[in-house]
Amino acid sequence: MAKQTLLILGGTGEARRLAARLCARGGLRVVTSLAGRTRTPETLQGEVRVGGFGGAEGLALYLEGEGIDLMVDATHPFAARMARNATEAARLTGVPLITLMRPAWQPVAGDNWQIASGMAEAATLLGPEARRVFLAIGRQEVQAFRAAAQHHYLVRSVEPVEPAHLPPNAHCILARGPFCEDDEIALLTQHRIDIVVAKNSGGTATYGKIAAARRLGLPVVMIDRPKPTGASIVADVDEAMAAIDAHLAAPLAERGA
Ligand code: NAP
Repeated sequence: MAKQTLLILGGTGEARRLAARLCARGGLRVVTSLAGRTRTPETLQGEVRVGGFGGAEGLALYLEGEGIDLMVDATHPFAARMARNATEAARLTGVPLITLMRPAWQPVAGDNWQIASGMAEAATLLGPEARRVFLAIGRQEVQAFRAAAQHHYLVRSVEPVEPAHLPPNAHCILARGPFCEDDEIALLTQHRIDIVVAKNSGGTATYGKIAAARRLGLPVVMIDRPKPTGASIVADVDEAMAAIDAHLAAPLAERGA
């Protein structure tokens, strides 16, 4: 009998760990899909495909063409378009969808967060006075901070930011997490940072800057997550493994086939 095929929409550490767990156990064909944003992605177990599908319809065609039995959206919590497309493609094809989304960070005693609903609001919340800002939001939305050109920015990303997207006073560093609290304290101190701008990504890999801001008494502009669109949401790789087993063990009729 042919192996069942599972598609992981990837680009996160959870997606990588899930593929490794499934491949180590065997019995399934595991394909991870990457958007292709990073030139040197970390090594993945199982098969890998790279590049967009061409919207929800393109993904639906791919699911049918590859005979995908189950799809796990393990993209980043801010990858909202891919999440919407996965939900719609699951609806179009009847392929079950599990969303693996780590819980959002919650403020704790000593945190001084201002919540922003998006990048434009975050730029406004930095205020009129010039400040030294640590911009830890990746490279794709840095452009929004050109509207707040009075500040000095330390911009950290995995891949270089398009120069035309940078605010005028910006210093860029390239680095890939995880980042630990002590190193983040050293970075914030070295660059005399007044305020941190971060996405509420959740998880431990990039929490160091949030803990560092708390230790240094610095405010954080925290960008809120887009609303999740998937119905069956799990919080970590263990829960995803259990949900995958439950789906694949269910009779076809229960799976909507
Ligand atoms: P997005 O805005 O939700 O997606 C934009 C388009 O990129 C999608 O419509 C899709 O193109 C393609 N795409 C996204 N993820 C894909 C995947 N895993 N496989 C194949 N195509 C994919 O996504 P994004 O925020 O640009 O994120 C892109 C990738 O970076 C994701 O894999 C995500 O997990 C990872 N990532 C994002 C962030 C973040 O802060 N946004 C942080 C860390 C990692 P088509 O419509 O043509 O299919």
